[in-house]
Amino acid sequence: MIAYPIGTSGQTLILTQPVLGRFSKYRQRRWWQREAGGQLFARFEGDHIVVAEATPPGHHDIRSRFGFRPDRRREQTEILERHACGLHFIGDWHTHPEAAPHPSAMDTERMHDLLTRSKHQLNGFVMVIVGTGDAPEGLYVALFSRASSIRLNPAPIRDAQGKSSIQVRPNMGDSAII
Ligand SMILES: [Zn+2]
Repeated sequence: MIAYPIGTSGQTLILTQPVLGRFSKYRQRRWWQREAGGQLFARFEGDHIVVAEATPPGHHDIRSRFGFRPDRRREQTEILERHACGLHFIGDWHTHPEAAPHPSAMDTERMHDLLTRSKHQLNGFVMVIVGTGDAPEGLYVALFSRASSIRLNPAPIRDAQGKSSIQVRPNMGDSAII
């Protein structure tokens, strides 16, 4: 898992192992691989926003090497189904064919569009861009609100000697919290 503190809010966004696994699977590591993406669903556990699921791309999405347009009807169905299980829609993810990805003008526009037309429980929406590099360097994680957007950086994890490092823990369960 990777934990991302959200500014000075005291909240932390946590990407769980199943979510990181899905991102990794769809990385565009070959020239012929197309952009992919899906939605992000989380449980709220106190100050922790635990991203428990990243949905995979669907058959009706429009995908190319440099673009991704999801099927809106599928998205809506996913939101209703997950909500019944206590999982909340908090944003979306998609891939880019670059090692350390950055949002395009279209990505930013899409997030602002999402903010104006959706009701949600967060102060903003999460956008994850999955690059070709390994996590966490290969991930761009940002929180968009109506007023601004901030890129989130992974929290350093301190080891027994007090040395801090940014670390991906591969073997922890999806409900575990740092
Ligand atoms: Zn993009």
